[in-house]
Amino acid sequence: MIASSGPVPPRSDPPAGPPAGPEPAPAHGTLSLVGIGPGAGDHVTPAALAAIGEAEVVVGYTTYIKLVRHLIAGKEVIRTGMTEEIGRARAAVERARAGSKVVLVSSGDAGVYGMAGLVFEVLRDLGWRRGDSPALRLIPGITALSSCGSLVGAPLGHDFCAISLSDLLTPWPVIARRIEAAAAADFVIGLYNPASGRRTRQIVEAQATIRRHRDGTTPVALVKSAYRKLQHAVITDLDHLLDYEIGMLTTVLIGSSQSFVFEGYLVTPRGYGHKYTAAGQVKDGQRPGHSLVLGDTALPDARLEAGNGAPPDDDDDVDDDALPDATSDAALSDAMLSDVTLPDAVLPDAALPEVV
Ligand code: SAH
Repeated sequence: MIASSGPVPPRSDPPAGPPAGPEPAPAHGTLSLVGIGPGAGDHVTPAALAAIGEAEVVVGYTTYIKLVRHLIAGKEVIRTGMTEEIGRARAAVERARAGSKVVLVSSGDAGVYGMAGLVFEVLRDLGWRRGDSPALRLIPGITALSSCGSLVGAPLGHDFCAISLSDLLTPWPVIARRIEAAAAADFVIGLYNPASGRRTRQIVEAQATIRRHRDGTTPVALVKSAYRKLQHAVITDLDHLLDYEIGMLTTVLIGSSQSFVFEGYLVTPRGYGHKYTAAGQVKDGQRPGHSLVLGDTALPDARLEAGNGAPPDDDDDVDDDALPDATSDAALSDAMLSDVTLPDAVLPDAALPEVV
């Protein structure tokens, strides 16, 4: 538990002189949890730049502070080392709670294996409530899966999952079970924290587990330091991935049974080829906007499904799948509307006014 020390109301004798007005409101600080993307300035969002620009105090791991050093001249900087996450989160919360504009900088997205969750744990321990100081701002960033994916093609074009191989805070048997399940379910798998100087066993075990479910020729990308100075990307396969150096700055992307390599790119197809010819004609027996009909064609995991050829779900109209299939203007605008309105509905500013 993290000790809590809420503000203590001042105790003093009643003032002599004219009656005092209402007590001044306690200083209201802001804590922005900002993901700065993979490393290059071009991949920091304007919202992240604005939050950093407005901040009085910048808190972060030394490497990330260095990545934004050109933005923080004149600001107070609290840098800490890698293993001091709790101290860093507490320092950020306490300074913001006392009234400062604080920005806590994470690489990638602050909510993806980043500091955001820890900040909420600190706030919970302090008894913080929405409306209290500090106000929170959560600014998304480009996570390693996206940045690393972009360097090797379109590996995440179909269902994927992320697993961190770090067992510093999660028991290895839990991680091993997730790898097994993801491998069995034919997800593209993104491995964060695959290895470090001391942690080298996990990637070996992960490879062996996944290999039991997938072909040795399954394509794999190893991306190190995406959009940083020492950027390096390799495309190999499941049987050979351990021949390469894999460290703390590597993200490992393991293809599904459908992934392929084309012109040096790793691609996981969305599945258009199941329904359409290369020229865009609907294949025999298929109908646009309707569930895929299974025939003799190779549709690996679909063969497991019962209810083949069932009538289409009404929900299909609002799936982004409906876009290429839409045949009427009405269907098209429905599909487009769902695309446009969804993100707005989940914007914290619109939906949750207390969070600024
Ligand atoms: N919050 C970060 C992830 C932090 S966990 C994000 O959203 O990206 C740290 C792991 O992320 C590293 O071990 C590595 O697997 C991955 N990672 C982070 N930045 C990376 C980069 N620039 N290139 C490759 N992998 C990266």
